[in-house]
Amino acid sequence: MIRNLIKIVGCKIIFIFLTLNFSTCFAKENLSLNHHDLMINLEGDFIQGGLVKGQTNKNITIKFKDKILRKTSNGEFVIGFGRDHPANAYLTLEINNKLITKSFKIKKRIYKTQKINGLRKKMVTPPKSFYERIIRENKSIKEVRNLNSNVDFVFQKFSWPTKGVISGVFGSQRILNGKPKRPHYGIDIAAKKGAAVVAPTESIVRMAEKDLYYTGGTIMLDHGHGLTSVYSHLSSINVKVGDKILKNQKIGEVGSTGRSTGPHLDWRVNWFDQRLDPLLLLENK
Ligand SMILES: [Zn+2]
Repeated sequence: MIRNLIKIVGCKIIFIFLTLNFSTCFAKENLSLNHHDLMINLEGDFIQGGLVKGQTNKNITIKFKDKILRKTSNGEFVIGFGRDHPANAYLTLEINNKLITKSFKIKKRIYKTQKINGLRKKMVTPPKSFYERIIRENKSIKEVRNLNSNVDFVFQKFSWPTKGVISGVFGSQRILNGKPKRPHYGIDIAAKKGAAVVAPTESIVRMAEKDLYYTGGTIMLDHGHGLTSVYSHLSSINVKVGDKILKNQKIGEVGSTGRSTGPHLDWRVNWFDQRLDPLLLLENK
């Protein structure tokens, strides 16, 4: 069958295309192939909320959802799969003006439902007078999430940003005072007010706000290649926008500012508009 296809199309790339499609990818899988000058390796969590790291030749352009993926000088790139990513993911490879589409499976997850009662009414449904502020704040957050920086910190292993008990998991659907809300995209780590929050990898500070409506004291770190992380409800902030931060450097302290019922760190990770599960990135889970 392969020989027939090669005869019809006369192209070695088809051979690789078929090889790729025969591979089924699940969590923490490797996918690799070599054929003459073509090479693509993918490694990571092929699951909703997962991040996959890849490497390919310099002369191959890789597109995911119409976005050209940034590559390092070694040809490394990353792809993130959001909370509700469909069962199939597609990569388009462009080499010598030829386009090849590769598909692989993304594992589906089942998310928890979490009910929280007793929140102040204005925090569940914000009064109209706050709409303008919320829209403005969301816009600034979105701008950071759209960054596609050329720093390569995303390839480092992630460490915990604070110590504590996980009190909220990625993807759970929250019902606040009986009203279904947007899913919870971060993980919550319960810790004492004032506990140190540190950077999980080297990073650049892109947001350092004391008082956002929903998230209170908020820091956004940029790890490069579209990967950003968010630290919310902080009681204090030790960094400013533009700071270059080392791995495990203190950036702030745990608090309960914004829409929060008690001291905890809400930690989120984004790959552009895709929400990722921070737990999947940690070197020591
Ligand atoms: Zn949270």
